[in-house]
Amino acid sequence: MNERDSQTIGGLFQEKGFSLAQNAGESDVIVMNTCAVRQSAEEKVWSRLGKLAAESRGGKLPVIVLAGCMAQLPQTIERIKKRVPYVRVAVGPGHIDKIPQLVSQAVHDPSQKLLTAVSPGRAEAHRTGSTQMLPEALPRVKVSGVSAYVTIMYGCDNFCTYCIVPFVRGPQVSREPRFIVKEVQELVSQGFTEITLLGQNVNAYGLDPGNGYGFAQLLEDLDGIPGICRIRYFTSHPRDFTKTMVDSIRDSKHVCEHFHLPLQSGSNRILKLMHRGYTREEYRGLVSYIRSQIPGASVTTDIIVGFPGETDEDFQDTIGLVKDLRFDGAFTFIFSPRSGTAAAKMGNQVSRKDKSRRLQELVRVQNEITKDINMSLVGTIQETLIEEPDLKNPEHVRGRTRTNKLVVCTSKGPKPGDVVKVRIDEAGTWYLKGPMWKPNSD
Ligand code: SAH
Ligand code: SF4
Repeated sequence: MNERDSQTIGGLFQEKGFSLAQNAGESDVIVMNTCAVRQSAEEKVWSRLGKLAAESRGGKLPVIVLAGCMAQLPQTIERIKKRVPYVRVAVGPGHIDKIPQLVSQAVHDPSQKLLTAVSPGRAEAHRTGSTQMLPEALPRVKVSGVSAYVTIMYGCDNFCTYCIVPFVRGPQVSREPRFIVKEVQELVSQGFTEITLLGQNVNAYGLDPGNGYGFAQLLEDLDGIPGICRIRYFTSHPRDFTKTMVDSIRDSKHVCEHFHLPLQSGSNRILKLMHRGYTREEYRGLVSYIRSQIPGASVTTDIIVGFPGETDEDFQDTIGLVKDLRFDGAFTFIFSPRSGTAAAKMGNQVSRKDKSRRLQELVRVQNEITKDINMSLVGTIQETLIEEPDLKNPEHVRGRTRTNKLVVCTSKGPKPGDVVKVRIDEAGTWYLKGPMWKPNSD
C-alpha cells in the first residue's frame, strides 16, 4: 500500500515540476514512506535517517520528509524532535496530498521547526473518519513493469489485538467501484497486464457504505474489463472470505488461483486473544472449500509466533495445522509489541529465546512443505507472466505462475508482459525453472 501511496507522492511532486532523482545523494527532497507494523520496520527507518545525516556531514541536507504510518504515532514525532531534528516534515498516510506544500513551506521557513500533518488520535479518527485520503483526482507517477497496484479501500476496522494498522490508518473506507473500474481501465490501456487490488481486508470491501456491492461483485466487474489479463488481491481476512467470493473467483477468467489467507495462529485460544473472529476449524473449512472448488489453487498465509501467553502447546497447534493444510508458502513473524495495542499490554509476554526457537521450527517445517510442493510441479507446464530479466543470469527471465510462484524461464525470447508456457524441469524452495514449452516440443 505504501508503494502505491508513494506513486501518488511522486505524481504530486512531478506536478510541481520536480523530477525523480536516481539516488539520495543528488536529491533536494527525500520522502521516506514508512511502515509501523513491526518494530524492525521502524528501526530501519531510524537507522536510515541517521545514515542520511552522517553521509551529508558538513554539506547541506535535503528536505527530509517522514511520511506514512510511523508519522501517525505520537512517540515518533517526539523522537524526531529530540534525536533527528533535521527531519523537517512528518505526514500521516491520510495527508500525503499536503507534502509538496509542506516541503515548500519548510524551504522558506527559517525557524526550522518540524511541520506536521497527522490525523487526530484513534478514537477521534474512528468517530469522524477524518484520516482518509482517497486517491480520486490525485496524480500518479508513471511506473514501469507489467504489474500495477490499485488500492480499493483504506484503513481497517478490525482491531486484531496485536496490530497497529487501525490506529495509524484509521477506519475502513471503501472507494467507489466506478473509480476503481476507471483506474483499472486506464492501467490496462497503458499496457499493464496484471492488476493487484490492495486493502487491509479486501473481503470487507463495500461493507462500510453497505449498499450491497461487495468484493465478489467488484471482482466480477473487473474481470469483464477488456484487455485485462490477471487480477490479484491482498490481503484477505479468513473471517470475511465468503463462499460466494470463492465461487466468483472460480467462475472468473482472470482472477488468479492464489489465496493469501493470514492464519496468524493455529490455536483457538490464541486466535480468540488475537480477536481474529474465526476458529481453526472454520479456517480449515474455508481452505477445504477453496480446494474443492478450484483444484490446483495455491494457498499462502501469515503466521505470528510468540503472541503473549502462547504456550508450547498452542504453538504445536499451529505446527499441526501447518503440516495438515500444507500451505504453498508463509510469511512468518515474531510477535512485536506495538505500543497502544491491547496485546502490548497483556501479561505473559513470551521470552525472546522462545520466540526465536518457535520461529526457526516453523520456518523449517514450512520450507520443507514449500519445497515438496514445488518439486511436485517438476514436469508440469506452467502459464507464466514474464516480469523482468533474471538478475543472476541476464539471458534468463523471471515471471510468476497464476498461483504466484516464481518461475525462471531459461529460453531466449520472452519479454516482460508476455504470457508463456514454461515446462518446469527444476524446482527449489523459492523457484521453479525451465524452458518455454510449445505444443509438440517434447
Ligand atoms: N491486513 C492484513 C495484514 C496486515 S499486517 C491482515 O489482516 O492479514 C501484515 C502481517 O503482519 C499480518 O498478517 C501479521 O501476520 C503481521 N503482523 C501484524 N502486526 C504484527 C505484530 N505486532 N507483530 C508481528 N507481526 C505482526
Ligand atoms: Fe491489522 Fe487485523 Fe486489520 Fe489486518 S485485519 S490490518 S491484522 S487489524
